[in-house]
Amino acid sequence: MRAVVKENAGKGAVLKEVEMPVLEEGEVLIKIKAAAICGTDQHIYNWNNWAQNNNINLPTILGHECSAEVVEVGLGVKTLKVGDYVACETHIPCGQCFQCKNGQQHICQNLKIFGVHTNGCFAEYSKIPAVCAVKIPESIHPNVGAVLEPLGTAVRANEEIQTSGKNIAVIGCGPIGLMAISTAKAFGAVNIYAVDINEYRLEIAKKLGATEIINSSVVNSAEKLKEFTHGVGVDAFIDASGNTFAILDGFKGLRKGGKVALIGLPSRPLEIELGSQVIFKEATVIGIHGRRMFETWTTMSNLLDKGLLNIDPVITHVLKLEEFDEGFDISEKGIGGKVILVP
Ligand code: ZN
Repeated sequence: MRAVVKENAGKGAVLKEVEMPVLEEGEVLIKIKAAAICGTDQHIYNWNNWAQNNNINLPTILGHECSAEVVEVGLGVKTLKVGDYVACETHIPCGQCFQCKNGQQHICQNLKIFGVHTNGCFAEYSKIPAVCAVKIPESIHPNVGAVLEPLGTAVRANEEIQTSGKNIAVIGCGPIGLMAISTAKAFGAVNIYAVDINEYRLEIAKKLGATEIINSSVVNSAEKLKEFTHGVGVDAFIDASGNTFAILDGFKGLRKGGKVALIGLPSRPLEIELGSQVIFKEATVIGIHGRRMFETWTTMSNLLDKGLLNIDPVITHVLKLEEFDEGFDISEKGIGGKVILVP
């Protein structure tokens, strides 16, 4: 089969013929319908500091976001059958640790990530533990199915801050931030304030239902959030930027008793005045590491199936698998939303 392989250190990857995956107990073989490029793939493709320090063995097949069809089931698999339409949950839990036994398998102590610690899905076929192949409705287009993994992170953040009926800000309008805006709209947010420094992305945010867009390279976003909410501050914000300055501005624009969901990964420590910004404010802060397995998947599938959630504008490029270099280039330059690769 054809696959995009990261062979060695240094930038880039190659498309080549590789052996078909061999199933082990509890795994399924999947035929990839569509896959999507994520920031994590970009790190591995570029072989940056993050990639060098995350126990990644080379050579490896890139990619972890995909929709697929089950074409073979391994020994002991009872929950799936050949022909099932699935999307991949990338968190591979051990099933044995404290978290796994207490309803938090998405943050398993021995967590492995599909496509990071295993061969991934930028290929014609891949294999994955059956527990991570989530059946989805046929009504969901394969290109949308390919981005359910990041969408789930956006949905989870909205679940945690209880978006319904609230004024919320979404900081960072990359693909996950944009999907957080769509979800906030589907959840019934009253006002959604989108913050970014990229006009192209802010325009997509507007299309997806952002009430106001704030270019924080031009105006002070904390002051704007206060102004839009008559001096009170927003009920909650989701950070999908990972930018420490932007996160601090988010806290300054947050009302007393407000909620914060953090998704973006800062590359350096954040220094915050806990007294004024968290303690006296009684702010609730939660980190989001992906989807709850599997409540978030159920919510997301239901919303998409009924047409109550639309993320189509986030998918800006659909390329063939062999055009992966162009896809990585588009993602890196931030000149697109989500880039899909079709094998
Ligand atoms: Zn575990």
